[in-house]
Amino acid sequence: MSGPLRVAVVYPDLLGTYGDGGNGLILARRAEWRGLDVELLQAVSDRPLPEADIYCLGGGEDGPQVRAARTLVDDGTLARRVQGGAVVLAVCAGFQVVGRSFPGADGEPHEGVGLLDIETLKGAGPRAVGEVVAEPEGIEGLPVLTGFENHGGHTMLGEGTVALGRVTAGIGNGDGGRGEGAVAGHVVGTYLHGPVLARNPGLADVLLAWALQGAWLEPLDDSASEGLREERLGTMRRKRLRRRT
Ligand code: GLN
Repeated sequence: MSGPLRVAVVYPDLLGTYGDGGNGLILARRAEWRGLDVELLQAVSDRPLPEADIYCLGGGEDGPQVRAARTLVDDGTLARRVQGGAVVLAVCAGFQVVGRSFPGADGEPHEGVGLLDIETLKGAGPRAVGEVVAEPEGIEGLPVLTGFENHGGHTMLGEGTVALGRVTAGIGNGDGGRGEGAVAGHVVGTYLHGPVLARNPGLADVLLAWALQGAWLEPLDDSASEGLREERLGTMRRKRLRRRT
């Protein structure tokens, strides 16, 4: 790659409610720690979306989510960059936005960017709120996924779109099949906040490797985040055991 690796946090002014902008920071730091030249861009919604190699979209409220989708569709850069091989990590509202359609505050459908063949509908029951554990499925070689969710939408995957994982705790996509998130090409969608890449550095490295065209990434000392993962996953294991007894 000529020039720095460009990581863009997409519309932090609209999709910044859940701290998912941290995903951009994690990607940038993990690249820098390996001696790579990185540019971390905060791509605000009143400017044209910059050219980047990895785009991170986060969660947000219903109204700003609709604005983010409309602005991204009108801007056109995200869809064009994905055609050109750019990597996307889209979380919660962002996940819904990169699909075909998603509900507004009253359940009315809105057009998404169409990067993933998924459709989100307003769920009838209570919001899915809480810790999630998911066995990875759509990407090979990932350790178990951990994060927390907070959403009202239920997401259905189209034919040929695979889930990122299968929930063993929590709701995930809420499609009745225990799927969590979706993967197609180098576009990954998930309901996991955390930020998800802080809680799952293995996923961060997959996205970096994709953006660097499969370059080998030197292992990092992840003992601190491993300790945190063990703590969170251990709590969930104990909860499950208590429920069984
Ligand atoms: N508004 C969406 C929903 O409730 C996304 C929420 C979020 O980003 N946490 O389903």
